[in-house]
Amino acid sequence: MPSSSTTLTFVRGLTEAVRIFVSAPKNLVGLDRFALQDYFASLGEKAFHARQLLQWVYQRGVTDFSEMTDLRLSLRQTLSEQAVIALPEVSRAQHSEDGTRKWLFRLADGNSIETVFIPEEDRGTLCISSQAGCMLTCSFCATARQGFSRNLSAGEIIGQLLLADRLLKQEGWGERPISNVVMMGMGEPLLNYDAVVSAMRLMLDDLSFGLSRRRVTLSTAGVVPAMDKLSEDCPVSLAVSLHAVRDAVRDELVPLNRKYPIDVLLGACRRFLRNDSRRRITFEYVMLSGINDSEEDAEVLVSLLRGIPSKINLIPFNPVPGVKYICSETEAIDRFRQRLISSGLTTITRRTRGADIAAACGQLAGAVQDRTHRSAKLAKTVT
Ligand code: SAH
Repeated sequence: MPSSSTTLTFVRGLTEAVRIFVSAPKNLVGLDRFALQDYFASLGEKAFHARQLLQWVYQRGVTDFSEMTDLRLSLRQTLSEQAVIALPEVSRAQHSEDGTRKWLFRLADGNSIETVFIPEEDRGTLCISSQAGCMLTCSFCATARQGFSRNLSAGEIIGQLLLADRLLKQEGWGERPISNVVMMGMGEPLLNYDAVVSAMRLMLDDLSFGLSRRRVTLSTAGVVPAMDKLSEDCPVSLAVSLHAVRDAVRDELVPLNRKYPIDVLLGACRRFLRNDSRRRITFEYVMLSGINDSEEDAEVLVSLLRGIPSKINLIPFNPVPGVKYICSETEAIDRFRQRLISSGLTTITRRTRGADIAAACGQLAGAVQDRTHRSAKLAKTVT
């Protein structure tokens, strides 16, 4: 039997926990139009305030409720007491020689994630993370070596866009520095489906960033059931990390292939395009010397992609500490590309950007609290 004083302490603790939980301000970043309408309804307020709030936060970058002048004063006060517009903190900003920016953003629980901005002549692309670490164990990727901590919330995903937009404007990049978003940072976006879809809906919403769905690209290693769902729920542009044309090789590079092998994955790609004849899928193919870069591999790739409107991005392998692969020779990449082009496939070799600050594809590695202990295990095998 617990003593009455123990019981009393327990009850007090519980009451305090409930008080903190109930009174903790709600972060409104990441709530889409409908979730915000529900939130205002819970305050006994009209739905149209959702529209006002979205415009203030995402179009004007205002995060202080007291500046939202078309909201009535008493509502501004209620919001200041009960809600926040909280963004991640910037813990490091790096500038590459080629103009690429990489930020390390610190989240409220101590995990850090990386976000990259890639300026080009006709566009500015932001590469966003969807998870702290990654559950997949692709053998050539730096994020994989960090292990996995957790999924990001919708607020932490869209927060990267909000914060990068603000930082770039402060640097003088003009009115609309970010024209494109790619979900190609840390993590597998389709293994954090709900939060990623909510965040992408905010990117597309005219009241928010208003990006067209051609300018928002989700990249996946091939989570087939979620690809089918995505084409129904939020049909943005799709990129697929193919990387090999034979299951035995792809099993090694992208172990998810053991669950969803190449023919199953390509079936999902065909279904994804079924409802929209104007679109095509981008296939990413990392060039690894002696592994997947022969002319025969190119032949097989041509036959695999027959009938799938596609664009192929050849990615020169970016070195990752502890990873044994080496990048294909320039001539091998050119030969591979020519073979695809001569079969009518649109193929580009992705220019490596930001390599001097480890911001290139597959080099993102934040600072995650690795709950899988994978990073420690890998460190042992390397030394
Ligand atoms: N998990 C998703 C999102 C990551 S996107 C996916 O797999 O698509 C990051 C892209 O960079 C993927 O195509 C990934 O396979 C590729 N990549 C990973 N490591 C790389 C490296 N070291 N060099 C070049 N590309 C790499």
